[in-house]
Amino acid sequence: MSSCIAILNATLVDGTGRPPLPESVVVIRSGWFEAVGQAGEVPVPGDVETIDATGRYLIPGLFDCHMHIVGGPYRAIKTLRDTLAMGVTTVAHVGGFRAGAEAAALRDAIEQGLVGPCSRLVAGAVVAATAGHVMGRTADGPWEVRKAVREQRVANIDFIKTAASGGFWAEHEECWWRDYTYEELEALVDEAHAVGKPVAVHAHTQPGLNNAIRAGADMIHHGAFIDDEALRGIAERNIFFIPTLRVTSERNIAIKEQAGRPWEARKMREAHPIHREGVRKARALGIRIGVGTDLPSTPPWRAGQTAVELLELAACGFSPMETIIAATRTSAECLGKAHELGTIEPGKRADLILLDADPLVALSILTEERHIRMVIKDGEVAIRR
Ligand SMILES: [Zn+2]
Repeated sequence: MSSCIAILNATLVDGTGRPPLPESVVVIRSGWFEAVGQAGEVPVPGDVETIDATGRYLIPGLFDCHMHIVGGPYRAIKTLRDTLAMGVTTVAHVGGFRAGAEAAALRDAIEQGLVGPCSRLVAGAVVAATAGHVMGRTADGPWEVRKAVREQRVANIDFIKTAASGGFWAEHEECWWRDYTYEELEALVDEAHAVGKPVAVHAHTQPGLNNAIRAGADMIHHGAFIDDEALRGIAERNIFFIPTLRVTSERNIAIKEQAGRPWEARKMREAHPIHREGVRKARALGIRIGVGTDLPSTPPWRAGQTAVELLELAACGFSPMETIIAATRTSAECLGKAHELGTIEPGKRADLILLDADPLVALSILTEERHIRMVIKDGEVAIRR
């Protein structure tokens, strides 16, 4: 990577939460942000390609912290091309390949430029209970769970994903079912943390929520039937919450189009108000919320629906700026990547999107391809419209 680019005169929303900076200068060199600031204060080097972005808006590349990259490597690459085209520069894979090693191999191939242009992949590996909600490396009992986590360590995955409660998908499974026991979760988290890997736990209800919180999970995903006790626990332990509101939204094609799975729509509609109330309370408690969609687990799906989750958060009281922070800085923190990703600041990998309208005025532009005029990932122009 050798591109040197200066983007001039855009209004910059850098993902840190600072107010928008008009007439900005963003200098990118060899994949990294070199300098960021106000025109006149930040010199434009003489050896760079300049892009005049007058009247445009810059935000960091978006994250999707909950995707299932399914269907083998070719389909996976297509999915990650489609997501990048919508400005999602980083995707966390939370299950779908048979083994974490496959996700790690695809991650590395993308990093090395062997396939592209794709979203960057953060490779999760699933460790799952027999007949549990998630599918992956099956392991039961604390020591088998520890062994399963150790296997994933060899595969060099980025984090471990598991389940503490049931879910919507299967007809004869209820969201309130307990999945892994506390003892199993405690062993899983301990083993993952022993080698610095974060743990993401699927949990909708009690007792799974409390089990995951008490076991030391780093991220709680979904929480569609979350209660006050779990919210207090999440706040006290500073756990990340990735609510995936899209799942219980009427925007979810599983609710709208999948008439063959009526139980799924029924359970999702039942959860809808509880899910949203939980997110409103989480925001009020100062819980750190990341963005995830749970796509594309329910085909037919459409790529680029990550921004839909921002609209869902906005409907729960988030300001547009707060939704952008959730999808960038906070999501990078969730995944343990905040040292190199998530904001437009010197010393971070240069991921950004250039918009032709102000997302703080009309957040919905992020759902429309035509407004995403440029996507830069690792300092390279991946999409130009
Ligand atoms: Zn999922």
